Amino acid sequence: MSKLFDLGGKVALVTGASSGLGAHFAKCLGEAGASVVLAARRADRLQSLQAELAQKNIAAKAVDLDVQSSESITAALEAAGSLDIVVNNAGISIVKPALDMPEKDWDAVVDTNLRGAWLVAQGAARRWVTQKRPGSIVNIASILGLRTIGQVAPYNASKAGLIHLTRALAMEWARYRIRVNAICPGYIETEMNSAFWKTPGGQKLIERIPQRRIGQPEHLDGALLLLASEAGTFMTGSVLTVDGGHTVSSL
Ligand code: NAD
Repeated sequence: MSKLFDLGGKVALVTGASSGLGAHFAKCLGEAGASVVLAARRADRLQSLQAELAQKNIAAKAVDLDVQSSESITAALEAAGSLDIVVNNAGISIVKPALDMPEKDWDAVVDTNLRGAWLVAQGAARRWVTQKRPGSIVNIASILGLRTIGQVAPYNASKAGLIHLTRALAMEWARYRIRVNAICPGYIETEMNSAFWKTPGGQKLIERIPQRRIGQPEHLDGALLLLASEAGTFMTGSVLTVDGGHTVSSL
């Protein structure tokens, strides 16, 4: 691997690391040389990931984190210690028609995907500014922050908000050598959705993706390592779409 992408000596915190893309991102950053802080609510899952990483000689620490709670975020950042990279990955979606979406569902989605990412970014940045250390924040947004689908209005809005928040923070924090960038994944196959892609509905959806395939978690590695490492040193406020061409599909 080019030295530019080498994360040796760096510490990276991943939110929502207990499953799916978050667990994958932790492995990817660890394989690039970083020590990882696995931050999520499910301690049992974090412990087994920690053990899996230890077998690959990746140093990992698990910290309890609920991004819906500012107290939990403060405590998690305290427990994490010195950081160089933060990946705001924790996210949820609730599927309901907009007319029937209760206020509490809106709050849960926006508080997790947008407010949570904002508070984690602010907490990390405050530490970096005080310590006079540079830092890199990678926000995991979605192509649904750029285009829309039905029945997930708060998800669409929270991811669009996260994309613009990325730009706002990049602008304000560049003077402190803090870079803030975002990745917009297209549809990526994870444990949670793998059965769907084999159904007729899933296959129909895949036909609308120009590359005619669903993404795999490792398809995001290039973008993640670019933004997290020195390779992306002149990048801040960037929003990278990784979607097999889905957002440029023919109208
Ligand atoms: P997932 O449900 O497997 O992972 C989400 C993680 O966030 C879980 O570990 C969950 O426990 C955690 N989380 C949820 N609420 C939390 C909270 N309050 N505090 C701490 N952790 C919390 O789903 P995933 O597909 O791995 O999604 C990861 C991220 O990628 C999300 O932000 C999602 O919006 C984004 N994304 C996923 C896809 C995809 O196709 N899989 C596409 C675009 C964007």
